[in-house]
Amino acid sequence: MGQYKVQVIRDLCIGAASCVAIAPKAFQLDNEAKAITLPTIGEESDQVLLDAAKSCPVAAIIITDQSGNQVYPA
Ligand code: SF4
Repeated sequence: MGQYKVQVIRDLCIGAASCVAIAPKAFQLDNEAKAITLPTIGEESDQVLLDAAKSCPVAAIIITDQSGNQVYPA
């Protein structure tokens, strides 16, 4: 179970869907082809969420830890 909090910056997202490929329980594209987070996001590990964020070509996925510190982008 992951502890990281994830936010997608919709204005940045270009629908590349690499986050969906890496973490399908965490991300999905909506009808505007922008990534949204899913209720099942807690089933993905922190490492997978981090990998998904790193895979985003436009760094639209922001990850913070339990204390609110930004983990990625660093
Ligand atoms: S990888 Fe980035 S640009 Fe692609 S869908 Fe996910 S958030 Fe959007």
